[in-house]
Amino acid sequence: MIEPQWMGPRVRTVYFWCLMSPTVGKPPKFYFLETYGCQMNEYDSSLVSGLLEERGYRPTQDLSLADLILVNTCSVREKAETTALEKLRSIAHHKRRRPGVRLGVLGCMAENKRETILERIPEVDLLLGPDHYDRLGEVLDRPRSLAMPISALGPDRNQTYEGLFPSASANVSAFVAIQRGCDFKCAYCIVPTTRGPERSRPSEDILREVHHLVGKGVVEITLLGQTVNAWRADLSFADLLRRLGQVDGLKRIRFTSPHPRYFTESVCQAMAEVPTVCPHVHMPVQSGSTAVLRAMRRQYTRDQYLTIVSRIRRHLPTAAITTDIIAGFPGETELDHRDTLSMMDAVRFDASFMFAYSPRPGTPAADLPETIDAAQKQARLQEIIDLQMRHTFQRLDEQMGSNTEILLEGPNRREPKEWFGKTPQFHKVVVRPEHPCVAGQILPVRIAARRGQVLWGQA
Ligand code: SF4
Repeated sequence: MIEPQWMGPRVRTVYFWCLMSPTVGKPPKFYFLETYGCQMNEYDSSLVSGLLEERGYRPTQDLSLADLILVNTCSVREKAETTALEKLRSIAHHKRRRPGVRLGVLGCMAENKRETILERIPEVDLLLGPDHYDRLGEVLDRPRSLAMPISALGPDRNQTYEGLFPSASANVSAFVAIQRGCDFKCAYCIVPTTRGPERSRPSEDILREVHHLVGKGVVEITLLGQTVNAWRADLSFADLLRRLGQVDGLKRIRFTSPHPRYFTESVCQAMAEVPTVCPHVHMPVQSGSTAVLRAMRRQYTRDQYLTIVSRIRRHLPTAAITTDIIAGFPGETELDHRDTLSMMDAVRFDASFMFAYSPRPGTPAADLPETIDAAQKQARLQEIIDLQMRHTFQRLDEQMGSNTEILLEGPNRREPKEWFGKTPQFHKVVVRPEHPCVAGQILPVRIAARRGQVLWGQA
């Protein structure tokens, strides 16, 4: 195809799509989608992409090409909200020069910060909460003459996005949300407000999506839910794992994040029984002090958490256990903090996501008086991080000389002879394969060295 020389990059792309599009002569539209926050948001963004692509929109990373700009936001931490607001402000500046572009805010901030967003960024045309993405098409079809902004907010108890598939990606791994919302009421968490009550998708719908993904080349899935192991529909969570274990071509199954209360014997048994379920458990502990756990309304004690860890280790002796920890929750004493450190010593987590507590307006904990200052909170967090690094290195060093299998994800861009992969325990491994490889292949390796948090393997 000879391309006219006078074309700039935007015109060139549109020209190309005009030639390729089945609706020749009608230029396709482009969307730009930026995602903040958790894996559930990433999954939701892939649903939105699937929906837009069905309607003829094409993805672009270039803001200047986009007819529709969407920002999928997160309210779990203040930092995520500030970053998203900054991004929206810079997009609004861009939109003032291209008024035809539509700007939409999706996700938890649309739900939780509607007034702030509209007051600070009046250029926003639509706000959709996490249960209303399927209305995007209808919203886009509305004539521009109708008043803006358009919003669809509030939890929808029946919404599971049944029948809607995420955009086909070129990846070997994919997320599959099996549950939406949360019925717990942890004192620090905004999720029950922004995402509503817990709903589980029927198993047949989940299996349909998994088969669809495997057909597109996906070999590893991660089941998602705020309390994923509380999933209950026509099967138990343990039986769902067993059913997924029978899917041909699916090499690895992971899930995140389970709630300790639902980590039952039968879930452990299913994990041990199904060879494709990976021996990796990311189970948020948040604190090692029973008093703080009670104040957080986590619904388990320190001893109960430790009993569940023993149960996991009994059924899955090689399992990696990772967690989330909050430092400096209101009322946390030095003794409570020591309990968290001793809990970490008792479990020796493979890795943790560690944060200093930040109050989220609208949560019960936001009304509790903070009992330590920012410097003390930071010092406690640093102690937690230092201890975790020691445990992470110990756990990785224990792998030295062992034989394992890694799922290859792709070559190192700077050194194409080196490939990245993950062990079933989710440890990252670099290897120099002796033969040509493809992403998605399982490669047996012997762990030979560690550099920082990365293992090196011999194929
Ligand atoms: S279990 Fe607690 S922390 Fe997790 S999403 Fe539900 S309320 Fe939030």
